[in-house]
Amino acid sequence: MHKKLFIPGPVDVRPDVLEKMAAPMISHRGKAATNLQKSISEKMQKVFQTKNTIVLSTTSGSGLMESAIRCCTAKRAAVFSIGAFGDRWYKMATANGVPADKFRAEDGQATDPKQVDEVLATGKYDLITVTHNETSVGIMNPVAEIAEVVRKYPDVIFCVDTVSSMGGADIPVDKWGIDFCITSTQKCLGLPPGLSIASVSERAFQRAQTVPNRGLYLDIVEIYNKVKKDDKYQYPSTPSLSHMFALDYQLDRILEEGLENRWNRHAEMAEVVRAWARKHFALFSDERYLSNTLTTVKNTRGISVADLNKALGERGFEISNGYGDLKEKTFRIAHMADAQMEDVKAVLAAIEEVLGL
Ligand SMILES: *Cc1c(COP(=O)(O)O)cnc(C)c1O
Repeated sequence: MHKKLFIPGPVDVRPDVLEKMAAPMISHRGKAATNLQKSISEKMQKVFQTKNTIVLSTTSGSGLMESAIRCCTAKRAAVFSIGAFGDRWYKMATANGVPADKFRAEDGQATDPKQVDEVLATGKYDLITVTHNETSVGIMNPVAEIAEVVRKYPDVIFCVDTVSSMGGADIPVDKWGIDFCITSTQKCLGLPPGLSIASVSERAFQRAQTVPNRGLYLDIVEIYNKVKKDDKYQYPSTPSLSHMFALDYQLDRILEEGLENRWNRHAEMAEVVRAWARKHFALFSDERYLSNTLTTVKNTRGISVADLNKALGERGFEISNGYGDLKEKTFRIAHMADAQMEDVKAVLAAIEEVLGL
């Protein structure tokens, strides 16, 4: 039996979208591939609200995150972390020999724009990374306010991880001045995992050209140049065309729904889950910055999260335990991509039934 997924990625993929993955192959260097990649790029620019260049990578989201911090840091990176995925960006920097410092908020807290200002004012940094939606704790950072701060430092390349929020929340890339904005397919976009998508500003591209040792497979200069060359939207290596078929199709569905409707649907599902969590448990994270794409519930009843999920599995649902050390202290319910209100209500009802609430 397929379990309906309420985990923060991978998400359930609609059957008609999945079917597109089975389309026959085409040459990745031919006109059809160019048209496909151009079509994706133009639709993606709408989702990202940007005029920047869209690049795809046949990696999960982490691939282009690593590319961003490795290729665009000339001096030193300031990593603002509020959880596991922010921490990952720091690990990527150190693993690649990129000088970096990590500024870590406590689990459940957001990045403080004032701290960003203090750190950038030292003049030590020429790139910063921020997590828009930290999936390990269910916080949506105040990126609009952080962007106001970053604007004061024109030499700083602004990188934002929107892996678990792009397509599910309003993220105006150009308005916020994001240079490198990264997402992947298996979260709010509602596709199988395997493709990373980013918007890259001309500034980020210019910076990368000054950085030695950018690697090869994820070298953003290579990728950017190839995408732009002769307006052909090609890639240096063979991309996952199957993902592209599905993505192109799914983007039509997303734009048909309307971005604003889609963001609102996520916000409405979040409201319902939060109200439920307050009633039966408590919310784990700072109430001012709760995520619209997943909710982290504090396990105030001391239930066994593992047993709960097992019982839910027998009823055809799957939620997520807490991340890392929070495994049994919290549980996470995702409400993202194509999930509908009735799905969310059904999983909440199932939890009530299992726990006898
Ligand atoms: C899932 C996730 C990632 C990692 O993305 P992959 O596609 O699994 O590489 C990074 N950041 C956030 C916020 C995520 O939720």
